[in-house]
Amino acid sequence: MGTRTGELNGLAEQVHRDLDLIDYPRGAWMKKTTRGTEPVLDVAIAGAGQGGLATAFALRRLNVGNVTVFDRAERGGEGPWITFARMITLRTPRYVTGPDMGIASLTPRAWYEARYGADAWDALGKISRQDWQAYLDWYRDTLALPVENDRELEHVTQEDGLLRLTFRTGAGTTTTRLARKLVLATGIDGGGCWNTPAFIRNAVPRERYAHTSEPIDFTALKGRRIGILGAGASAFDNAGTALEAGAGSVDLCLRRKAIPAVNPYRWMENTGFLSQFSELPDLLRWRFMSRIYDLNQPPPQDTFWRCRRHPNFAFHTGCPWTDVRMDGEEIVVTTPQGEMRFDFLIIGTGFTIDLAKRKETASFAASVALWRDRFVPPEGEEHDMLGSHPYLGDVYQFQAKNPDDPQAAMLSAIHNFTFAATPSMGLSGSSISGMRFGVSRLVNGLVRDLFVADGQYHLDSLMAYNTPELISTDPPPEDADQQTNTKRKDQA
Ligand SMILES: Cc1cc2nc3c(=O)[nH]c(=O)nc-3n(C[C@H](O)[C@H](O)[C@H](O)COP(=O)(O)OP(=O)(O)OC[C@H]3O[C@@H](n4cnc5c(N)ncnc54)[C@H](O)[C@@H]3O)c2cc1C
Repeated sequence: MGTRTGELNGLAEQVHRDLDLIDYPRGAWMKKTTRGTEPVLDVAIAGAGQGGLATAFALRRLNVGNVTVFDRAERGGEGPWITFARMITLRTPRYVTGPDMGIASLTPRAWYEARYGADAWDALGKISRQDWQAYLDWYRDTLALPVENDRELEHVTQEDGLLRLTFRTGAGTTTTRLARKLVLATGIDGGGCWNTPAFIRNAVPRERYAHTSEPIDFTALKGRRIGILGAGASAFDNAGTALEAGAGSVDLCLRRKAIPAVNPYRWMENTGFLSQFSELPDLLRWRFMSRIYDLNQPPPQDTFWRCRRHPNFAFHTGCPWTDVRMDGEEIVVTTPQGEMRFDFLIIGTGFTIDLAKRKETASFAASVALWRDRFVPPEGEEHDMLGSHPYLGDVYQFQAKNPDDPQAAMLSAIHNFTFAATPSMGLSGSSISGMRFGVSRLVNGLVRDLFVADGQYHLDSLMAYNTPELISTDPPPEDADQQTNTKRKDQA
């Protein structure tokens, strides 16, 4: 099938028309802020994945246009979809909407039908990850979103009530920008870092293992014995990719007694949970999240079969790796079920939440309130991982551990729109399933804070407002009706 450029261009025109039809209110309302001659962004967004892009669009719909999205990747390298994700399709059902913010012509389905035709949509199971990225590219271009690539946010400090953001380019140069608000839309690992256990890192040469989030040359693994640690969906995606590339054998090992089978994401996809979870008391939120984190996300059935159809694939439940060592050229893994020997290891152990481990949050990490600082679980309900997540305010903002902390005001201007927000806010607002409600909550919160901070300015604006609607008390001129109509249109 061709690229159907005409249909996609037509859809882009439809988007502009739809946005025009609902373009209200129209008036600029934000105070212009500068520091001397230096411009100040109302909102800076770190991360131009789907979460950052949708946030910029939703802010524009609220007439907050002084916004820039920064991404450390070059254009095309944002997010996981065509970089390190190795599944065939999204795990999310095709009917989920999110980035569109309720504009029908901006939905994934509208894009898919324009790109491939309505019949193709009817026949579709789930959207491929390549198509998802193509949709996000079209979305970004159609909306002309203000993105600067090759800008890694490295550092945040406070300066006279504003945020001073330092960015580094790939070539090593640094620039700084001032902003009133910062949204961290830095991805699934944005609250910490990908996690490869130290006993593996310390024992195995670097070229003999990779985390699922890293580039892997699967053709070089042809005929090799591969050991995979982890039972999440990504572990299976990597197993499938290795098997299809001709791996000699793939053994996937998991600590659990059974492969997770129930996907709590599907349960979470309901309006009450998605929109109101963050309003629940701490104990209930904790219990919800303990259950959700313990269920984990299983491999979808098609992903599992992608692996299971290969006779040289095996999975081993109740099989944690307790030690790893080299024996000449072989990697020897110790498990409760005995030793296993491999040529290469793939580590699917996900990520750790630790703000001190990220450049952009490291300088203030010690001041941020975490769940373990604010909530003591009942005996028997302790959960170290949940306790390590930031304890966020109602619109994703960090909160200071100690309210007297001199960084407290700065922290409340930084909104964590990453997966680290999950225990506080419910299903991540930047995930496809969570966006519809998460992005709205975030942008309404940003606008609330900005409007309230400028309350006196807006009152002064009202006091100074003296544009007369009634301009004459004389008898009407002959063309009065025409003049009134023209004026009505101008005001529209
Ligand atoms: C293998 C895999 C499969 C997944 N499948 C699904 C799925 O099917 N459905 C689903 O809903 N979710 C899925 N997810 C979760 C997925 O990551 C999120 O839903 C989605 O990518 C979140 O969007 P985001 O914008 O928050 O993050 P991302 O899309 O990851 O974008 C974050 C961006 O931030 C940039 N960035 C990071 N740090 C900085 C910095 N310091 N300065 C500047 N830029 C920075 C990165 O370059 C990146 O482009 C999957 C995740 C993985 C890893």
